[in-house]
Amino acid sequence: MSEPRPHFVASSRCECQATLSAQLTEQRFVVAGSAYYLGQRESAPAHAIHPERELFDIGWLCPFCGRNVLRSFHAGSLRRVGGAARASSGAARST
Ligand SMILES: [Zn+2]
Repeated sequence: MSEPRPHFVASSRCECQATLSAQLTEQRFVVAGSAYYLGQRESAPAHAIHPERELFDIGWLCPFCGRNVLRSFHAGSLRRVGGAARASSGAARST
């Protein structure tokens, strides 16, 4: 098996104003999490809770303030990452 490739990006805000983001696979498992605050990027442990559901949660451990941040996401509203295996899905451009 090759490494899982991220297909989606979910992002949110921590209470401390850090921007949290997570890269997800097609099955919505977290590949990597990161946090960004005042020009500084840190890796942030993140995991998906019930990723098989339409409405699921992602939890981050914010490296800047140490909070556990839980946010709900809708599967259909996740941002798809470019550069997936096939880019030939018609004329629609996502800009
Ligand atoms: Zn924080």
